[in-house]
Amino acid sequence: MIAVLEKGCPLKQKADIVRFVEGAGFRVQVSEHSDQSLVGVIGPGAERLADELAAMPGVREIRPMAPPYPLVSREQHPESSRVKIDDITVGGNDLIVIAGPCAVESREQIFEVADAVAAAGASMLRGGAFKPRSSPYSFQGLGQEGLELLAEARERTGLRVVTEVVALEDIALVARFADVLQIGARNMQNFRLLSAIGEQQTPVLLKRGMMATVEELLLAAEYVMAAGNPRIILCERGIRTFEKATRNTLDICAVPVLKERTHLPVIIDPSHAAGRREIVPPLAKAGVAVGADGLIVEVHPDPDTAVSDGRQSMTLPAFAEMMDEIRTLAQAVGRGTPVTV
Ligand code: PEP
Ligand code: MN
Repeated sequence: MIAVLEKGCPLKQKADIVRFVEGAGFRVQVSEHSDQSLVGVIGPGAERLADELAAMPGVREIRPMAPPYPLVSREQHPESSRVKIDDITVGGNDLIVIAGPCAVESREQIFEVADAVAAAGASMLRGGAFKPRSSPYSFQGLGQEGLELLAEARERTGLRVVTEVVALEDIALVARFADVLQIGARNMQNFRLLSAIGEQQTPVLLKRGMMATVEELLLAAEYVMAAGNPRIILCERGIRTFEKATRNTLDICAVPVLKERTHLPVIIDPSHAAGRREIVPPLAKAGVAVGADGLIVEVHPDPDTAVSDGRQSMTLPAFAEMMDEIRTLAQAVGRGTPVTV
């Protein structure tokens, strides 16, 4: 529910309104639009305050909360938000590229990829230490050893680290090593995990579930933000459709639609959409052209021997070549381009 205040409502009245709402046990989000303030009343059962609020001095009208995800909606927060990871800003003018293997496999592997993607202009290193695998017999990740290797790769290259959290009990451990915590497609609606990740302050990369609508993705982000963490990056990674020619169908429409509905940054994962490396570059370019704030791409020194997602992982030279094309395209669409070191 939103209380629309009178134009030029005095500060004292505004403070009384906020105090009243908070005193009733609800969260408040105030946003300013030129000379008018909107007070979002957040929490289950907020409607019961409607009559009392409507009668308070300074309140012009009460509106139902139009989108059910008030904290992440652009309506409540018209300006795009930026997620800062040290000196990297996601959601600003610069196009941010995150690259690395699906899974951390060994020191040699992660160092080789990290050196190569840093040289090619990536700003962050990806690599799973805890992997959500369809089969219980598949490689599940190196766990803490993988996290330590990622931290060593960060020391070596300066690349910030993005890695997945699959379980509630691992959040604190992963957050000790990671700069960004990834919530994977399979966990996008693991609501307890979303709330718990929202209770800490490490930025979150939230991937769209393979059967999730745009609205469900935004509601998942709302869980994280409602729990207290506003540093969220959304990721479109392809959804399951009837089409079998690709592993998933990259929903390119989701980027402009998300940009319309939310102030959060949006990136594209062409690798998990494509399922095979040959078509990753055109999908990555489509992502840039359609307005994504960045890309997350799987890269491996020897993809055919990769323990997971080898088929869709790019070789190091192919990644460098793609980055050259991305740089040209980023320039054409007025984005700051990835820089090589
Ligand atoms: C991954 O990034 O390796 C991964 C498992 O992605 P998703 O959750 O999108 O399938
Ligand atoms: Mn993968």
